[in-house]
Amino acid sequence: MKEIIGVYGAAGSHWVGDGFPVRSLFFYADLGERISPFLMLDHAGPATFTPTNQRRGVGTHPHRGFETVTIVYDGEVAHADSAGNSGVIGKGDVQWMTAARGILHQEYHSEAFARQGGTLQMAQLWVNLPAKDKMSAPRYQGIVDSEIPRVALPNDAGTLRVIAGDYHTQDGQAHIGPAQTYSPVNVWDVHLHADKDIYLQAPASHTTILVVLKGSIIVNGSQAVKADQIVLFQRNDERLLIQTHEASTVLFLTGEPLNEPIVGQGPFVMNTQAEIRQAMLDYHAGRFGA
Ligand code: MN
Repeated sequence: MKEIIGVYGAAGSHWVGDGFPVRSLFFYADLGERISPFLMLDHAGPATFTPTNQRRGVGTHPHRGFETVTIVYDGEVAHADSAGNSGVIGKGDVQWMTAARGILHQEYHSEAFARQGGTLQMAQLWVNLPAKDKMSAPRYQGIVDSEIPRVALPNDAGTLRVIAGDYHTQDGQAHIGPAQTYSPVNVWDVHLHADKDIYLQAPASHTTILVVLKGSIIVNGSQAVKADQIVLFQRNDERLLIQTHEASTVLFLTGEPLNEPIVGQGPFVMNTQAEIRQAMLDYHAGRFGA
């Protein structure tokens, strides 16, 4: 079984703009190369918003050097960026945005959601890019719920949505996630019923992180993990065991580590300090677009 390195959680919560009350469940500044190729995960909500005509969210800001993956569980997020992409990410949808050499974007509650009010819950994952791809062109993948394979787990344990990577059922059938990625990763959104157990599997060489978004689980027979905690595993074996006593939602993240230096500041994550300085120069010179 994949050995557990540790269980971690958010030190506190903060607002991203005025629309997203988040807990940062992991961050590369704390965990470094042990979580490569992943950089960060923010869990927003679940939070209830009253109806309004105001725009809630976060205004124009840059990113360079990595990808942002937004998974919406409840509510609606409206997005617009300098590469000309815009749209609404609704319940069950995923936005996989490759900032690469640079993008400016805005993330707001959708107009319809703001007017109506209700519950907002989402996760935003940052995935690092290999050095050779950090200055490639930005890319945008708007993936709607119906495009994401939904696999029934054995023994009526629940369902698993394959957002990226591939999940193999016991009969050998492969379910391939729609997201195109720059390095091998699995991003699976796992919804488990109460009192179930399930083995999940990924290559031993991969970094593996379980993120508990709802409920609570027991990992590998003894480690209790509750909502807004993550489990980070050694790169030593293929399987891990999850047991539930209540309905739980878990993100299963695995990926081949990049084994490259990580140097970041704010919305820029590169390989050297010189590249960070260049990112700031380019941003202030308007080279990220408009
Ligand atoms: Mn952003």
